[in-house]
Formats: sequence, structure tokens, C-alpha cells
Amino acid sequence: MTDTTSTTQPAYKIIDHTYDVVVVGAGGSGLRATMGSAEAGLKTACITKVFPTRSHTVAAQGGIAASLGNNSPDHWSWHMYDTVKGSDWLGDQDAIEYMVREAPAAVYELEHAGVPFSRNEDGTIYQRPFGGHMQNMGEGPPVQRTAAAADRTGHAMLHALYQQSLKYAADFFIEYFAIDLIMTGEGANRRCVGVIAMCMDDGTIHRFRAHSVVLATGGYGRCYYTATSAHTCTGDGGGMVLRAGLPMQDMEFVQFHPTGIYGAGVLITEGARGEGGYLTNSEGERFMERYAPSAKDLASRDVVSRSMALEMREGRGVGPEKDHIFLHLDHIDPAVLAVRLPGITESGKIFAGVDLTRQPLPVTPTVHYNMGGIPCNYHGEVVTLGPDGNPDHVVPGLFAVGEAACVSVHGANRLGSNSLIDLVVFGRATGHRLKDIIKPGTAHDELPADSAEMALGRLDHFRHASGGSPTAAIRREMQQTMQKHAAVFRDSALMAEGVRQLAETNKRMEDIHVTDKSLIWNSDLVETLELDNLMAQANVTMVSAENRKESRGAHAHEDFPDRNDAEWMKHTIAWFEGWGGKGGKVSIDYRPVHEYTLTDDATYIAPKKRVY
Ligand SMILES: Cc1cc2nc3c(=O)[nH]c(=O)nc-3n(C[C@H](O)[C@H](O)[C@H](O)COP(=O)(O)OP(=O)(O)OC[C@H]3O[C@@H](n4cnc5c(N)ncnc54)[C@H](O)[C@@H]3O)c2cc1C
Repeated sequence: MTDTTSTTQPAYKIIDHTYDVVVVGAGGSGLRATMGSAEAGLKTACITKVFPTRSHTVAAQGGIAASLGNNSPDHWSWHMYDTVKGSDWLGDQDAIEYMVREAPAAVYELEHAGVPFSRNEDGTIYQRPFGGHMQNMGEGPPVQRTAAAADRTGHAMLHALYQQSLKYAADFFIEYFAIDLIMTGEGANRRCVGVIAMCMDDGTIHRFRAHSVVLATGGYGRCYYTATSAHTCTGDGGGMVLRAGLPMQDMEFVQFHPTGIYGAGVLITEGARGEGGYLTNSEGERFMERYAPSAKDLASRDVVSRSMALEMREGRGVGPEKDHIFLHLDHIDPAVLAVRLPGITESGKIFAGVDLTRQPLPVTPTVHYNMGGIPCNYHGEVVTLGPDGNPDHVVPGLFAVGEAACVSVHGANRLGSNSLIDLVVFGRATGHRLKDIIKPGTAHDELPADSAEMALGRLDHFRHASGGSPTAAIRREMQQTMQKHAAVFRDSALMAEGVRQLAETNKRMEDIHVTDKSLIWNSDLVETLELDNLMAQANVTMVSAENRKESRGAHAHEDFPDRNDAEWMKHTIAWFEGWGGKGGKVSIDYRPVHEYTLTDDATYIAPKKRVY
């Protein structure tokens, strides 16, 4: 144990650890990366702020996409086509090819790891239809590609992965909150050499020195007021990356899931529509037939959410406020619901008071997934604009996987069941890369003298913050602005006002008040550190959205209703400066989309109009 040498900060006890690899996050992606790293013989630690099996992956319901072809004909090239089209041509086709080709092996690996998939009569893994997944290079009919364990696929996956990871010699640091990365070097040599975390139980500070840090911290859905994501989805990895002076990518693309339970925001899986569920408006009309004549209720999520929003706007929403839509499952055999969708049957009862075998369920589009994240390549390596202008410059020592990352396979809109497969495919790829680049037992770089300064400076600042604004009040203001100004539909005036309001809210960070000054289970302090991460990403999201003058995928800009490939087929990358309410400046640049495949086996899918 050492004391901080800093003269500017009070002394916090620091406990030092040395690993080859430190993974931050124990959701599906973090656990898969941890397993891969440990299996490669690397000394590996996994740090997580919640117990591994409480990570948001546990809530995933509908399933995981792979072209196994068990319930209908399928081919990886069809999966690739659907993913590129779903991304509205913002996805990188080399990474997409990698994901869809690795997908079947990744699902069989999960099967062998003990995931209790639902089964067909012949014993093969059951697969259901999901939005935007089609046969015959988008021509249709819908394909059954989504492997499922009833409607608790993420739960089954996360438990199997955690059990497996225990058999490897990885060390778990559970209920440790990672605060900041340790960066060193300048220019092209700037690299990550570790991470600082706090043990939430006793307030001790832990300095992890590592050859590589893998950020697997999940999404930042909680910058919105209503989201299907857990309260822990606060984008901490993104916050750390922005503070390290690195950019985030494509943050304007936030997915609204069509079927969050009205009021509660709890998710009803797209598997519900996959199993035959459909939406109606106040006139009892199955309106999706008008918007997506071919795929109907199984069009991709951005299309269905926009159609619902239009129905409500035109006065055909249901309820006294005409502010929601009905989802019908009451025509499906209750025995089928009991086997295939038991979890949502229960959610319907608890959160909407509805018996969905007999009544329709009130639903509304709800924030669900962040397509944007930490830019990286298909090996999981974090990339940025290099000092020499190289748009794919790798930041040594830093990786990102899962929802925290932007590979980018989902582009402007993710297809349902493509996230769970992203977690395991790229978690595994990261393990392979770590094995290639790190030799076990290699000596570590010297840590910079100020290695703990930034993390402890922030911790201490917030711990003793005694302004007039409680964390919860600032957070609510931010969430309400995001909810209203970065919604399903956006226009220039709405977003410009959103940018202005968020800048004001950001200033309130200077006036924040943390009541609990202790270091033992100080949830007030942890929520404040999380808010700091959310606030930066909310600002980046709003500014990136205001900046993109076209409509693509989840970004539906009413003043620019068409996709504009000539000017906007490029990834936004955005930096944030001026923390703690001081400045809060977002600056923007771009990276080209990878308009090429990984191998000659795949055909480049040229942009065309996206209709379902
Ligand atoms: C309700 C719901 C249902 C879904 N259903 C599906 C589905 O059926 N199919 C599909 O493909 N996708 C689905 N998704 C999306 C998918 O589940 C998520 O994108 C995915 O699980 C995210 O996994 P992850 O590994 O990136 O992160 P998470 O599972 O969110 O885990 C994040 C991890 O990071 C850790 N962490 C975060 N910050 C810190 C910090 N500061 N210090 C230490 N640890 C930290 C947490 O403790 C946690 O272990 C669903 C999402 C939701 C919300």
C-alpha cells in the first residue's frame, strides 16, 4: 500500500495491482473478453461495479442472431445484407462481415458453455423471427435467425458465461467502481497503462497497472428520463475515454425500442412480434401494413418507432392522452405464450396490470440502445484520428467491447438480437488480439508520476462538493432535456434549443451538492461520478445530433428527411472538454465508413433506398 505523492490532493490510501490485462465490466462482453484473456495465459483482472450476473445483459430477452438455419433457410451473407441495410449504410462492412461469419460458432460455443437454449422437436436450437432479419438478401420472407432461451436469453447467457469464467484464473474485483484511465505518452505514442478504481465497500483506492485495459462498461441509456436500460447504464467507459482526450463516435444514433411498457419503460421483447404479436392504433387498425407493406410489424426498430410516433402525432394514439399504442398477443395460444414468452407475460401483469393472453398491452417507443460508443476496430482496439491524420490510428493499450464500443457493426440503427452476438463475437476477438500482442510476464512501463491525480482529484472534488444543486436534480434536468430534444423525431430548432439547455444544465455541475462525505458505500458519490459521465455524453449526443443534417437510421431529422450519402456517409467523432461545469465544449470531426469487405468471399453491399 502506498500514499499518494500528490501535493495538490489529500492523501488517499492507494493499493497497487499489476496485471497483463484489466477488463472493466462483467456483462456479456466483459466476461467473454475476460475468459479469452485468461485462457491465453494472461494475468487478468475483471473489475465490475455490480455483481457480474446483475449486469444489464441479464435483462436481454429476445435472443441472439446467427445464421444457423435451424428453422428456415439462412446464410451468413443474408445476415450481412440485413445488418448493413439495418445500419442504413453507416456500419463498417469489414466488421459486419467478421461478426456474421463468426456468429454461428459463437452461438455453438455458448451452447457448449451451458446456455439452455429453447429447442426444436429435432433437438436443434430454436430460432425465432426478429425485426429486419430477412431471407434472400433482403427480399424476404422473414428469416428465423434469432436463437432464444425462451424470453430470458441474456439471463441464461450471463449465468453460463460467469460460471465458465470462474474456471479460468481471472481475478474478479466485484463492486469496484472504475473512475479513470491511466494514460501516458504524447502524440502517436499516447497509450493506456492502467485504471484507477474505488472499492465501494470500504472506500479504498486501487491502482491497476496493465499492458491493456478493456472497457466493457455497457451503454449510457440513463442520460434519458425513460429507458429500458438498468439504472447502472451510465456510460462510465465513455466518460473515461472523453476525459482521456479521446473521441466518441456516432453518438447521435440512439435506438428507441418500439415496445416499452407505457409509463414504466420496461421492455417487451421484439420476440413478442416475432412470435406473431402486432400493433394497433386507436381505430384498431394494424397500421404497420401502411408503413412497411412487406415486413409489417417486423420492420426494423427505427421504422416501427417512427410509425408509432406518427400515429400518435396524428391523433390515433390510444388512451385519454392518445399517447400510446396497443400491442396484441391475445390471439396467440396461451400455451405458446407460457413456453416462449413467460417473462413478458409476467412483466405485463406487474408493470401494466394487463393479462396479455386476453388484453392488449399499452406500449410506447422507449430509449433502448446506444449505437454510438468508443470507436474501435474489429479486434476491439480503440481507434482515433492519428496525429498523422490516419483515421484508424490504434490507441495502444486500450480496447472496447459491447455496447460501450462502436465497432461499428450497427451503424445508424441496430437490428434486434445483433447486440448479444456482438458481445460474444467481439469479446472473443479481443481475447485473440490480446494473446497476439502481449507476452505473459513482460515487464510493465513505469507509471506516470501523476497516475492517480485525475481520478483522485475528481473523487475528492465531488465528495466535498457543497453547492446548491443535489445530484438527482441536475440528473433529472439533463434526462428531461434529452427526452424532449433528442427524441424519435428531431428538427433543427428543437436540437439547437436542446444544445442550449444542456449547456445550462452542464454549468450546474459547478454547483453540485453531495450530502454523504464518507467513503463507505457512498451511493451519493458514485451516482455523482456516474452523472459526470452521463452529462458529457448527453452533451456530445445532442451536439452530434444537431450537427448531422440528414436523416439516417435512428436519426430522423425533420428538416432533412432524406439520407444524404454524398455528404454524410461518415462517422461523427466528438470530443468533450471543460468538465465539472467549466466550459463543456464539444468539438466534432469525422472518420470514413469502411466501404469494403474483410475478404473476397463477401460482396460489398452498395447503398440503396431502405424500404421494408
Ligand atoms: C431490457 C433489455 C433487453 C435487451 N434484449 C436484447 C436481446 O434480446 N438481444 C440483443 O441482442 N440485445 C438485447 N439488448 C441489448 C443488450 O442486452 C445490451 O446491449 C448488452 O447486454 C450490453 O452488454 P455489455 O456487455 O456491453 O454491458 P452490460 O451488460 O451493460 O454490462 C456493463 C458492465 O460494466 C460494468 N461497469 C460499468 N461501469 C463501470 C465502472 N465505472 N466500474 C466498474 N464496472 C463498471 C457493470 O458492472 C457491468 O458489469 C437488450 C437490452 C435491454 C436493456
